[in-house]
Amino acid sequence: MRTEDHLGMFGREGSELVVAGIPLGRLAARVGSTPFFAYDRAAITARVDEVRAALPDGVALGYAVKANPMPAVAQHLSGLVDTLDVASSGELAVALDTGHDPAHVSFAGPGKTDEELRRAVAAGVIVEVESRTELQRLVRTGKELALLPRAAVRVNPPFAVKGSGMRMGGGPQQFGVDAELVPSLLGEVSSSDVDVLGFHVFAGSQNLRADILVEAQARTVDLVLDLATHLPQEARYVNLGGGFGIPYFEKDERLDLTHVGERLADLLDERLTPALPDATVSLELGRYLVGEAGVYVTRVVDVKESRGQAYAVVDGGMHHQLAASGNFGQVIRRNYPMALGNRLGDTGTAPVTVVGCLCTPLDLLGDDVELPRPDVGDLVVLFQAGAYGLTASPTAFLGHDAPAEVLL
Ligand SMILES: *Cc1c(COP(=O)(O)O)cnc(C)c1O
Repeated sequence: MRTEDHLGMFGREGSELVVAGIPLGRLAARVGSTPFFAYDRAAITARVDEVRAALPDGVALGYAVKANPMPAVAQHLSGLVDTLDVASSGELAVALDTGHDPAHVSFAGPGKTDEELRRAVAAGVIVEVESRTELQRLVRTGKELALLPRAAVRVNPPFAVKGSGMRMGGGPQQFGVDAELVPSLLGEVSSSDVDVLGFHVFAGSQNLRADILVEAQARTVDLVLDLATHLPQEARYVNLGGGFGIPYFEKDERLDLTHVGERLADLLDERLTPALPDATVSLELGRYLVGEAGVYVTRVVDVKESRGQAYAVVDGGMHHQLAASGNFGQVIRRNYPMALGNRLGDTGTAPVTVVGCLCTPLDLLGDDVELPRPDVGDLVVLFQAGAYGLTASPTAFLGHDAPAEVLL
């Protein structure tokens, strides 16, 4: 996808980018400081609507809070989706503070502490257990609190999902219980110890290939149907995970959501629903719901030339938007889409290297990007900043101030 296409997701007024109806200069003045993250509420709503329209009826849509745990964002999404998925007690607190029904909150992630399990059981959320010992601790926690824990087993499938930016299933993993061990694990607990509602399989993030996602979902459903025969009662919960990707780079093509939805409908009609008519099938998407709705805005504080190379130094950097520096799961560093948001349409572009204000060569935001020759005061906008941005970045590194975050 080209930078112009990213611009198209927002608006333009004269030479200025418009975010949620507000021209960038006015937005920067209103926020009062740079750098900042701005998230567009209407864009999030539109994306949820698009996903709902593509998915088969009856599939529950979840939001994976870790993609963007800003309380206002979680609050907005709580009103739009069916479930919230959290992966720490901090995220659990964010989810519960939205007022979302705890019965429709799930808690995944390795290394849950006893304290986290206590909070989860007390709140009545679904604990997605990641190991045999975690299940044992969950049972103990339920006895201590005299509550029946609600659980699902997160399964490490016997297959990997190709084409994922980050692989989280197949082979040895810290995530989930190896599929072949699930039957014996289920044999070790009774339904008076823990209510095992079903299964959760999430095997990879940032996937743009519809055919691969479709195949992974088909294999996951087969796996779940097999494992479900080992539950004391019929499975009621089948969480197919997240992982739908968004385009970051020029050669990235948009995920064919319609194809994924159509094939999922077939899969449910033909295989899952006949066998497990009472099961709620859910997807928990993070990046796909919020990633494109956010921008990270920084101001140029210095321009310089070094031995023929033009540099723009901005007041933000990898401490806020690590992914754009290429240090969050990328094998080969490529430039995130960016623009001078106050000088759109300026002709006479030239290659410039955009760096952050951290005293490390890692803090590279744009390597030799074609931009209008930047001036001090210009606003550099990084797109695709709504997911895995601020909270996925080393904010304490170099001790700069935290950026503002606004939901508009
Ligand atoms: C991170 C995560 C997600 C969301 O992944 P995306 O790639 O952002 O859709 C979903 N489920 C679990 C368990 C996760 O850890």
